[in-house]
Amino acid sequence: MSKVSADMRESKFWANLQTGLYLGDVGQTYFQKGFGLKSEVGPVLARTYQSTTVERLKTFGYEASAGGIHFKLAREFGFCYGVDRAVDYAYQTRRQFPDRRVFLSGEIIHNPDVNQRLRDMGIQILSESKDPVERFEEVTAGDVVILPAFGVSVPELKHLSSKQCVMVDTTCGSVLNVWKKVHYYAKDGYTVIIHGKHYHEETRATASQALTHDGGHYLCVRDVAETELVCNFIRGNISGAELMTHFADAASPNFDPDLHLQKIGLANQTTMLMSETLKVQETLRKAMLDRHGADGLESRFRAFDTICSATQERQDAVLDMLKDGGLDVMIVIGGYNSSNTQALARMCAPRVTTYYIDSPGCVEGATIRHHIVGTAGEQTTDGWLADGPVRIGVTAGASTPDSVVGETIERILAMRGLTAAELTQPVQIAQGSSTVATALVDKTSYA
Ligand code: SF4
Repeated sequence: MSKVSADMRESKFWANLQTGLYLGDVGQTYFQKGFGLKSEVGPVLARTYQSTTVERLKTFGYEASAGGIHFKLAREFGFCYGVDRAVDYAYQTRRQFPDRRVFLSGEIIHNPDVNQRLRDMGIQILSESKDPVERFEEVTAGDVVILPAFGVSVPELKHLSSKQCVMVDTTCGSVLNVWKKVHYYAKDGYTVIIHGKHYHEETRATASQALTHDGGHYLCVRDVAETELVCNFIRGNISGAELMTHFADAASPNFDPDLHLQKIGLANQTTMLMSETLKVQETLRKAMLDRHGADGLESRFRAFDTICSATQERQDAVLDMLKDGGLDVMIVIGGYNSSNTQALARMCAPRVTTYYIDSPGCVEGATIRHHIVGTAGEQTTDGWLADGPVRIGVTAGASTPDSVVGETIERILAMRGLTAAELTQPVQIAQGSSTVATALVDKTSYA
């Protein structure tokens, strides 16, 4: 290939990646559409991640009973389209490159079971580091690197490309859509305010997209409380220096609030709590209105809700369950570092006794290990399931396979000497576990 055409190819490659609009293969070392091995890996994925217990519950209309336990499954839960695709591509990649070293640039999704299975297939998960050189130190030319569903940052992509390794990019289309919005803002001179966790891989990748435009900047706000701080500055109640003592790690380099909070455009990590995202938007909109008046608002404030549809559907399904009421206990299943699972737990915990667990093994008979959002590690609760009739709601984050949900249900049934085969059409069981009445929630962490 001539130098000119090689240069053109590279420039097209980066232009496409940086706008998040890349649609086709640009070279034999970059893949984002799988390897045509779906029919080979499909049966393996089905055996590994599906569950006959979950299917049985669905057959009965997402509710079934056995031995005084009534299970109610959320109408939408578990693996989303983006995770399905990422896991599928990871399995295809292992088959396509049986003799090569295969790395994951980090956890492919935030689920311990899935990540362990990939490790068992010989896929090495690289450690976290903000420094691309350190993060990909082990990777050499010819190795294969799988990029996760939540994407990687622009500097990481560039660094990997320079290593001449094979990249299999599983970045979800919904994340690419957020990147488009970010480009739209940055190109027009708006600082991107991202409702998300500044240390989360997806937010880091999204934020990096803002910096691909001259003068592009970003600021990440985690919740409404942090948003209020930004609003305090916008209204002139605190100085830029005071603001930056809080946001030093959550803003672009050389962020100057006096310059960079004049025009703002809002986006969010795809997996945040929808109600909180709307509050963040409204809180900032009011502050900009107070500062610049109605005439100034239009040219200084833009907002799009970039919660992905899968996250939205899972949250809506939980809201429906909570509205229906009558649950004694809610089980939320997913990795403790899974943002969308945290959002589900945050919705449930103030309203019903909630146990957020990351694997079926957390159910150890009468004892349950679980996580409370906003605290570190796990708690242990004894006697978590009351004797007698009990109604249990079950949901799972977008990175939790049905197999994990099914096994959790089986372990709960086993506490009463039952199996999933004994689940039958639901019988009405009155809400009754008054012995387990404490909502397991650190309420201070909920806006
Ligand atoms: S949670 Fe949403 S953005 Fe993330 S992988 Fe799933 S569909 Fe894509």
